[in-house]
Amino acid sequence: MNQSYIECRSVSKTYFCKHHEINALTNVNINIDKGQFVIISGRSGAGKSTLLNLIGGLIRPTSGTIRIENTIISEAANDDISKLLSSRTGIIFQSFNLLPAYTVYENIEIALVPSGLNAAGIKKIIMPMAEQFGIINKLDLLPEELSVGQQQKVAIIRTLVKNPSLILADEPTGSVDEETATEILSYLSSLNKEKQATVLLATHGLTTGKAVDRIIKIKDGYVEEV
Ligand code: ADP
Repeated sequence: MNQSYIECRSVSKTYFCKHHEINALTNVNINIDKGQFVIISGRSGAGKSTLLNLIGGLIRPTSGTIRIENTIISEAANDDISKLLSSRTGIIFQSFNLLPAYTVYENIEIALVPSGLNAAGIKKIIMPMAEQFGIINKLDLLPEELSVGQQQKVAIIRTLVKNPSLILADEPTGSVDEETATEILSYLSSLNKEKQATVLLATHGLTTGKAVDRIIKIKDGYVEEV
């Protein structure tokens, strides 16, 4: 039997706070095939970010296992997770985490430093994406000189220049206007279709469309529908 690309088995995550515990995810079982475009849908606080962070290896489950291809992410060493994050896995965070003292171009360039490409090679990757996202004339500016939507685009480009085969996008359209949201979704969809990237996109909205293979609904930490 072919094994799925991502497998979450009996995954629970409890955050232990000072005076109380929060069960963010309870007994989650999910299988995702390579190349799928999956929406993780649920209200704010449902557990979507927690699930993406667990799959990215940024946090560990309280119990259960998470496997991606042949790696048990939930048990992998931090070094191995770092390697996966700089090669295979691209995470688009809700907060953009752009470096304020660096230009837009430099913010994107940083993601490509580990690739070992020279300046010309890096430019060749960045320019077409900046063109596509309509920020080509913003590359010399500082992040604070951009609109929120433009900053989100820079954060997305910074993630996608590495050509990740697994994209974890946490509310990537949450702070942008409808037109920009459509652009972002269609770009992720083209990466999914043309490069067979697996995309997991968390949203509290109703994002549906032809591009989406599947919607996983989460409510109060429980997967409702797979
Ligand atoms: P969503 O992404 O669907 O909005 P989250 O995964 O961010 O949901 O949060 C799920 C629950 O876990 C919420 O009740 C949230 O307050 C809590 N939570 C998330 N991160 C932490 C954390 N680092 N420490 C404590 N509680 C957290």
